Amino acid sequence: MPSRTAFVTGAARGIGAATAARLAEDGCAVAVVDLDPAAAMEAAGKINAAGGTAIGIGCDVSDETQVADAVARTLADLGSLDVLVNNAGVLRDNLLFKMSVDDWDTVMSVHLRGAFLCSRAAQKHMVDNRSGAIVNTSSVSALGNRGQANYAAAKAGIQGLTRTLAMELGPFGIRVNAVAPGFIATEMTAATAERMGVSAADLQAKTAEITPLRRVGTPADIANVVAFLASDDAGFVTGQTLYVDGGRRL
Ligand code: NAP
Repeated sequence: MPSRTAFVTGAARGIGAATAARLAEDGCAVAVVDLDPAAAMEAAGKINAAGGTAIGIGCDVSDETQVADAVARTLADLGSLDVLVNNAGVLRDNLLFKMSVDDWDTVMSVHLRGAFLCSRAAQKHMVDNRSGAIVNTSSVSALGNRGQANYAAAKAGIQGLTRTLAMELGPFGIRVNAVAPGFIATEMTAATAERMGVSAADLQAKTAEITPLRRVGTPADIANVVAFLASDDAGFVTGQTLYVDGGRRL
């Protein structure tokens, strides 16, 4: 029987799917939470087929009721909620003068409101248990990125949220940290390449050239760090944002 339960958002594909699979390997039962219920169940099915324990839950993380329901379902079906990974994300890139209010609101809603709602819902159980770990997903874009005013602001906001929740929840044995990925090869960056009119492979090769480690990241590169931050090995680490970017921002 798994000893911990993880709730991973945006876990049907990309970094979230790799994180859910890695946490399952580490012995967690996993709630695979995603906007698309069928994709969430498919990803959970893969974890179960590999010998893990997972359930798939359809949930829009920006919707308060859906988040409350997803957390309640996790507690009912898996018995606990010990690790929360706020990973769900979307892009609506545009230069400021072309950015619509909808582009701004969508990105804020999924990244910031979503992390707030999931953290608030999960902390209740964690506080009762006097134990828990939350890992948020920031980005190197938090430092500023042309065409991403909405996304950069949301990802910088995630860092402030992380530090503040670490202060508030630390006395209850709950650690809160963030991972800030650089360029990771996923559908998100493939979509960016398409918008730029280049192939995903070309954008990856160009990015690798200007990255000290001379490669782009994989979802597993991020999943490994999330797994560490969620584990007891990081038992005295809280309020931190760890950049995982191959040295790109040096
Ligand atoms: P991805 O491949 O686009 O996957 C994102 C997942 O989030 C999708 O399964 C998507 O579901 C889900 N999602 C979107 N909106 C949601 C909502 N409202 N509620 C629940 N789930 C939702 O992205 P990724 O590259 O793995 O990125 C994961 C996280 O890392 C994001 O927070 C992203 O900002 C961050 N990040 C990525 C990179 C990178 O280079 N890839 C770099 C820095 C930070 P649908 O498919 O149904 O829309």
